[in-house]
Amino acid sequence: KVRVRFAPSPTGGLHLGGVRTVLFNYLFAKKHNGDFILRIEDTDQTRYVAGAEEYILDCLKWCGLHPDESPVAGGLYAPYRQSERKAAYREYAERLVMQGHAYYAFDTAEELDKNRKESPNFQYGQVYRQSLRNSIALPQHEVDALLDAGTPHVIRIKMPADETISFNDMIRGYVSFETNQVDDKVLLKADGMPTYHLAVVVDDYLMKISHAFRGEEWLPSAPVHLLLWEYLGWKAEMPQWAHLPLILKPDGHGKLSKRDGARLGFPVYAMTWFDAKTDETTPGFRELGFLPEAFLNLLATLGWNDGTDQEIFTLDELIEKFSIDRVSKAGAKFDFEKAKWFNAEWIKRSTVGSLLPAVSSILADKGIVITDDAKLETVINLIKDRCVLLPDFYQQAGYFFEQPKEYDLNAVKPKWTDAKTDFFNALTNLLNENTGIGAHDLETKFKALAEEKALKVGDVMLPFRIMLVGGKFGPHVFDIAALLGTDETVSRIAKALG
Ligand code: GLU
Repeated sequence: KVRVRFAPSPTGGLHLGGVRTVLFNYLFAKKHNGDFILRIEDTDQTRYVAGAEEYILDCLKWCGLHPDESPVAGGLYAPYRQSERKAAYREYAERLVMQGHAYYAFDTAEELDKNRKESPNFQYGQVYRQSLRNSIALPQHEVDALLDAGTPHVIRIKMPADETISFNDMIRGYVSFETNQVDDKVLLKADGMPTYHLAVVVDDYLMKISHAFRGEEWLPSAPVHLLLWEYLGWKAEMPQWAHLPLILKPDGHGKLSKRDGARLGFPVYAMTWFDAKTDETTPGFRELGFLPEAFLNLLATLGWNDGTDQEIFTLDELIEKFSIDRVSKAGAKFDFEKAKWFNAEWIKRSTVGSLLPAVSSILADKGIVITDDAKLETVINLIKDRCVLLPDFYQQAGYFFEQPKEYDLNAVKPKWTDAKTDFFNALTNLLNENTGIGAHDLETKFKALAEEKALKVGDVMLPFRIMLVGGKFGPHVFDIAALLGTDETVSRIAKALG
């Protein structure tokens, strides 16, 4: 049975790339009638951020990507938080020590530091030299004495020398590593907590994970994981790996970073709880006014296509069409303009009813209380093709419910003439005589009036629009006037001329 997992560490918010990982996991699971599991990898207590887990859960909810098993939903393999599974890991670490695949290391922070300085190859994250104070270098009785005395220690994997480790990645194909280039990673920390490397392998095994999708940044860890699967005797059950391509800046130069995020709306939600420390809140996709459908759609195209020109997909279509063969290993460019295009397309495709709650609340935030839902529905229908992000609904819909506060005078003033004033006075009379006139009739009469007054239609149409909405935007001006009604239209003309 297909079982996949998303295994975030609660060290911050969920960004674009994280949700893409969730999505690809989810699509693969649903396509194969499998299970999608959320596991919280919270063994690194120093990087733990309160609130992060809740944030991650909220994001998945907003996206509509519901895990079948999770810390909240529970499941057969509970608990789904690694901090609650602590006891199990030590046993495996000790088993590895007994087998000679791992060892106790008693190095103090100062010793590690000294070694780092003396050995040019020993840089942080690079190869741990086994000449340090560890149980391989020390005689057994000294090791026993140190352990008996309760000396702080960690357990490290013993990387074999001069070996090549390889595996077949579902996306990248054959991948290989030289063991001499790989660090003797810590498996169990001094506080008894496992590191990510040990916990991820143990839990993927215990939770019967069949396929593991994760970001390309985890590829360098793969040799450690492969050896652990082998040493623990679980190789036959190892999941198939898929390392997803990096997400790049719009110009393709370099990885999209958090800095770009501040500008591009990188997180899913505003991380108020997290940014509180820095006093600046980065708006997320949700606050910027993306629809979750559009967000998922754009994420799906970051590294995947279905081989045709189709770009708009519903979640169900994605499940049907997703295939790992069509995920590219080259980095995927993230272009915010393209992201907005997806949203505009999704707003066009959304039903008026589904947009209504969001639009009502956007207007309410601006002090416009909607008492007539039917009117708002008509308005949404008229303007939704012009909205890219949800907040655009305020600019495009607000003037149907309140008079413009400002006018784009530059667009009308310089060319204003008495003849135009005369025209609008005549238009006012016309409207008063034809209360309730429809858009089409109004247009015909408006044009006839312009001709009668020897004015070009275009020269009075733009001022008419500015009088009604305040600026050079909005749908067909006669549709606006008809929806506002004759009384309101007359009142706006009077106010503008006044
Ligand atoms: N806990 C890792 C993370 O924070 C999971 C990586 C993996 O999927 O193996 O992304």
